[in-house]
Amino acid sequence: MAPVNEVVVKMGWEALADCQCGCGRSHRAISGGVVRGDAQTAFMAILAEHPDPEGSKIWFALGSGPWWPDVDDRECFVNVATWLADGGFRSRVSEPEDSLWQGHELLADAQIRVLTRDEVLDFEPGASWVFATIDAIMSEFEPCRSFLLGG
Ligand SMILES: [Zn+2]
Repeated sequence: MAPVNEVVVKMGWEALADCQCGCGRSHRAISGGVVRGDAQTAFMAILAEHPDPEGSKIWFALGSGPWWPDVDDRECFVNVATWLADGGFRSRVSEPEDSLWQGHELLADAQIRVLTRDEVLDFEPGASWVFATIDAIMSEFEPCRSFLLGG
């Protein structure tokens, strides 16, 4: 058995996703799982070569269980954009309507709740979990690293 604190990031599917913004592009989309001990987080990522003042971006949708199971038992997803700035990775929790995942069929399920930026940032340990998960993906998962770093 792997040590509990070891983080493993696994590859899932890979596909081409038609851009939801209407620009006519298709982006490479991949999925994976971040495994920490017994806990697994599913994620999906659009690797977007897209006109953007901040350059190429990865648009993540992180899946987790319900955040407020007493009042809403839907699976919660968080949108995060990650890009390269000053030689390092920078990430921001994005509003659902600003994400390239907006309108995508994979998040249109009635059993999915896509969280707003305030819902994520106002809720601990949710916000810390989001950034720790993105850090794990960007340090351990080659397809995302090399997309932003090149090579
Ligand atoms: Zn587009």
